[in-house]
Amino acid sequence: MNNISDLKFECVHCGKCCTDLNTLVNTTYLDILRIRDGLNLTQDEVIEILGFYIFDKKPTTKEIDRMVVPPIETERGLAFTGLKKKSNGQCYFYNTKEKRCSIYKFRPNFCRTFPFTFKLLINKVNSTENSIKVFYTEKGLQYCQGIGEEKPIIEKETWIQLGQKVIQDLTKNTVLIKKWNESVKEGLIIPSVSNFILTIFNLER
Ligand code: SF4
Ligand code: SF4
Repeated sequence: MNNISDLKFECVHCGKCCTDLNTLVNTTYLDILRIRDGLNLTQDEVIEILGFYIFDKKPTTKEIDRMVVPPIETERGLAFTGLKKKSNGQCYFYNTKEKRCSIYKFRPNFCRTFPFTFKLLINKVNSTENSIKVFYTEKGLQYCQGIGEEKPIIEKETWIQLGQKVIQDLTKNTVLIKKWNESVKEGLIIPSVSNFILTIFNLER
């Protein structure tokens, strides 16, 4: 079952999702590697474009399990990984003059999918019957000017395919982060941001 025919959207390029102070653009390790490859960045340059946002209050295991992109252990504590923002809320990669993304081709999945999010609906009897549900994100409903009754119904196949890809990436990312966090707890690795970036640089994709 899919509610996709209820979803009406067409981006009007208002730039709000790239400039909203309270919107953090989460990045999976696959996003980070795609940006690294696209811009040919060094390890230090990758660290420079990322924000490692420490939680005010440490989330519980239950809360972490519910997170689409789980936080990583760092030298300063558990951190949410996302693109760096300027103090006015703008994404590091937002070109203010031209009002567009300067890394459009390599942008994170979060940006590709906004204002939508996806859920995998598992068919317990027959896994080939699994399906993807698409919905608006809370932030999307709050401020995205591309959502509206007058907008066209979204193209089902395109979004379902994107949803499948995003869910695959998120799953891979969760596996990697769980492994990282467990290794930190067991004292097997030093939980520094630079070590994390080095670890993902050394991965075979
Ligand atoms: S990466 Fe590009 S699309 Fe994503 S928030 Fe930044 S400027 Fe916007
Ligand atoms: S907030 Fe919505 S309409 Fe505005 S740029 Fe982002 S996706 Fe497009």
